[in-house]
Amino acid sequence: NSLNPNVTAADAAEKQKVWEADRDHFMHPWTDFSTFKETGSMVFTAADGVSIEDADGKRYLDGIGGLWCVNIGYGRKEIAEAVADQICAIPYFSTFGHHTTPPAAKLAAKLADLAPGDLNHVFYGCGGSVANDTAVRLIHFYFNQLGKPTKKQIISRIDGYHGSTYMAMSITGVQFDHIGFDIDEKLVHHISCPNPYRRNPDLSEEEFCRQKVDELEQKILEIGPDNVAAFFAEPIMGAGGVIVPPKGYHQATLEVCRKYDVLYVSDEVVTAFGRLGHMFASQDEFGIVPDIITCAKGLTSGYLPLGATIFSDRIYEVISKPQADGAIFTHGFTYSGHPVSCAAGLKNIEILEREGVCDHVKDVGAYFEQRIRELGELELVGDVRGRKFMMCLENVADKRTKALLDPKAKVGNRIADACQKRGLIVRPLAHMNILSPPLILTREHVDFIAETLRESILEVTETLRAEGFL
Ligand code: PLP
Repeated sequence: NSLNPNVTAADAAEKQKVWEADRDHFMHPWTDFSTFKETGSMVFTAADGVSIEDADGKRYLDGIGGLWCVNIGYGRKEIAEAVADQICAIPYFSTFGHHTTPPAAKLAAKLADLAPGDLNHVFYGCGGSVANDTAVRLIHFYFNQLGKPTKKQIISRIDGYHGSTYMAMSITGVQFDHIGFDIDEKLVHHISCPNPYRRNPDLSEEEFCRQKVDELEQKILEIGPDNVAAFFAEPIMGAGGVIVPPKGYHQATLEVCRKYDVLYVSDEVVTAFGRLGHMFASQDEFGIVPDIITCAKGLTSGYLPLGATIFSDRIYEVISKPQADGAIFTHGFTYSGHPVSCAAGLKNIEILEREGVCDHVKDVGAYFEQRIRELGELELVGDVRGRKFMMCLENVADKRTKALLDPKAKVGNRIADACQKRGLIVRPLAHMNILSPPLILTREHVDFIAETLRESILEVTETLRAEGFL
């Protein structure tokens, strides 16, 4: 992690120019603008394998895979070549109506092949939020075509994250994300989060699961089954704090959905394409075949924007019937099925398969999980949860009562900063820290992450104590 001797004075001047341009004009997502003017951004200029490099030439191990997405790691020339070839062949053409390009068609067939059950139809957008918005429009159109126009309401969970478009943010249940904004409360209903760490300790995991599943059923009955269209759930909640639901939860909620003809949407924007050791986690990790899977991120390993809404034969049959009053599925984007993004997606999946990345995750991801779980012995760490390359540390003031530290302690940020100083990027999320590294991590990388986190957490514990937060 030493400074790169090749960084020159000209590089430093260029860095300053970039930093100022960014500070003055680039409105960043999810950013506190009250402090941004002073702090500005870290500028990253290069990346390779599992590492990224800042404009000073300092290297960091990327413990968050960009943003849960750079699954195959950085610097893959093969992707660059596939993308360049596609740009030269045909960079863009509309897919509205009866036009297509080879990558869009081939990737759709590949996704249909990889997805569980009869999920054989793919609608493309540019990311996860749009994939979820598409799911809502598809579901509404489907029930209209079935002659059930009242079936429109959506149920999702507190702490679920589904994106940042108006609809996807309404479905999102992370309450912090709603502060200062409005959401569509007429269409979306939130039920509680199935977080085993925060459950009533008098309940067994099985009883806790039953309680959460009953809550879904009660909510459907309260709204009226004729009014409820779909249930949205991530297999493991990501941005809500990597919450793994109790055993059997997904199967039982799917059964409830089936009972009331409510469609089950599995948001696999984070969990697909190897993160948990499978191309899709719904069936292979959690034993369910949903009606719709939404995905993005790892679909291209973040090399280009792409999202997909993959849905069942049953839905396709209904929406593809001749429309009595001339309605067609008037939904789509200029960039639906963008050939260059699809070429990146195809090559990315080819690499994931050829290199056996899912098997690697089952092996090294299990080691990662074990090493991160060991940090649970530290005073500050109340809970360590997640699976394989999707992990979270929940930091607390008191492990016994699970009481949180004063938010002013900014414990998540402090740990992230202490790690960054040591050449590791981890994500702060309120009082938590999240890890979602590239899936090609080696055991040596895993050891570096675990040891760096341990040192950083111990250092932060001492400063918090000195400042009276502990
Ligand atoms: N769904 C989940 C589970 C996500 O984690 C995200 C993004 O982090 C989204 C949807 C939204 O995806 P995007 O940011 O590509 O719109």
